[in-house]
Amino acid sequence: MNQRCVHAVLSAVIVLVAGCAHEQPSAPSHAHWSYQGATGPEHWGSLSPDYALCSTGKQQSPIDVVSPAPADLANIAFHYDPVPVEILNNGHTIQVNYAAGSYIELDGQRYDLAQFHFHSPSEHHVAGKPAAAELHLVHKSASGQLAVVGVMLQEGPFNPGFEPVWRNLPVQESPATITADTIDADALLPSDRRTYRYEGSLTTPPGTEGVRWNLLVQPVSLSKAQLDAFRRIYHGNNRPLQPLNGRSIVRDTSP
Ligand SMILES: [Zn+2]
Repeated sequence: MNQRCVHAVLSAVIVLVAGCAHEQPSAPSHAHWSYQGATGPEHWGSLSPDYALCSTGKQQSPIDVVSPAPADLANIAFHYDPVPVEILNNGHTIQVNYAAGSYIELDGQRYDLAQFHFHSPSEHHVAGKPAAAELHLVHKSASGQLAVVGVMLQEGPFNPGFEPVWRNLPVQESPATITADTIDADALLPSDRRTYRYEGSLTTPPGTEGVRWNLLVQPVSLSKAQLDAFRRIYHGNNRPLQPLNGRSIVRDTSP
């Protein structure tokens, strides 16, 4: 799941060396995609047959979380261990690959944490409003089902939990590098573990559906300087909102 993108732009000629979908476990296609222009989100579905769901899918992400139905759900159980920070800039985002062994339990199913990455501004909206940024923790079950935990990031107090990653942000596209720092993904989460849940997709090509989305209701704060450090590298790496198409959204009401 950790393949990276290598995009080479040579003079006026764009050479499509490789591409990637950062939330994608295996890459059936290497068509180049981006967040603007001729390879931007409106065109993803036609860049490759493998990306068709980006335009034809009916359960695409992100969405605006509006009027979720209250539900008494079991909280996700997080079993995250500290690991060395393995970080890369894949041309679409900053990604941290997570060493094996950390996982969540969601409705009795184990999903292993594979990687986390960031979008700025947020991809999801809540009641019509975006956040400054959004963290996606991408998990996969033994059978291959994906479950993403999203965290809305807002401007506020300095957040030391992000610093092991923030100390190592790669400005340029770069291969995965193991740093001297250790990260505990648990330190990236809010204290309240209740979530909005819905069935969606990868927010990057190929737009694979059947992704279990769990967006934490409580946002997490980063300082303006922390947000700026990311935005200097990526700002605008957010897919536009997708139609809900009758999908249900639930909000966990129980602590
Ligand atoms: Zn993402």
